[in-house]
Amino acid sequence: MGDFDTRWANDFYCFDNICYIYGIPSNNFLKYYTLIKSIPIHIKSEINTNNTPCTQTTFVENILGRKNKTNKIFYTLQIKNPTENYKIQNKWQVLFGEKELNWKHIFTMPYKATIESTLRNFQYKYIHRIIATNKYLFKCKLSNSNLCDFCSENIETIEHLFWECKHIQPIWNQLISFLEQHQLNVNLSFLNVSFGINSLKSIDCNNIVNFMVILMKYFILNMKYKKQVPNFNCFVHSLKLKIQIEKEIALSNDTLQIFEQKWNRIKFS
Ligand SMILES: [Zn+2]
Repeated sequence: MGDFDTRWANDFYCFDNICYIYGIPSNNFLKYYTLIKSIPIHIKSEINTNNTPCTQTTFVENILGRKNKTNKIFYTLQIKNPTENYKIQNKWQVLFGEKELNWKHIFTMPYKATIESTLRNFQYKYIHRIIATNKYLFKCKLSNSNLCDFCSENIETIEHLFWECKHIQPIWNQLISFLEQHQLNVNLSFLNVSFGINSLKSIDCNNIVNFMVILMKYFILNMKYKKQVPNFNCFVHSLKLKIQIEKEIALSNDTLQIFEQKWNRIKFS
């Protein structure tokens, strides 16, 4: 703790100074605040006699001062902090075997695919495997069974719930046909429904497909919560709603042209 107070100043170093003096990466501010918070008040008040605020930094002010812009900051932290992600990345890597995963693409994909925060957040959780499957809930004694809510035959893992289940495979196939009807020919696998594609000629085409694979997974999870087997018509209905939301966000951001360029090839019969 001695490192965190300057006797000559009767105060703590602020986070920016700590980073500068000890060469700590500037994305470690949460650890700094945890540490400062853990110092008992009576010690703090003894050291910080002139009561100057010592916990404000431009970085935190940045977060607190922004409305709905925190995603970008957490995204920056994510990209800058690869060691924290190692365990989870390794888990996916083991699952997909020899195929080298492109983590830069994986982390940036949701931000390119959609401007809507619900879907971005969902994909963030998916990448980090923060999905309350029955396998997980059963382990925590929060569910009576670890079996899949749709088929009741297999253990409900992330892989089973979003891809392998016999009730889920048909809706992915229907999505492939839907995309084909719009000249978007893709070969969907568990790898690219998990992390999106990068193989189509235009950025907009990749973004449309990636938007749809995120939305489909989000839709599947919501149907799981409702304990209803997903059907493709309901998915199309939620797709229309989400496109409408993107349009409204684009209108308020004055980016309607970008919206139209992205979505003009998708027509609903
Ligand atoms: Zn199942």
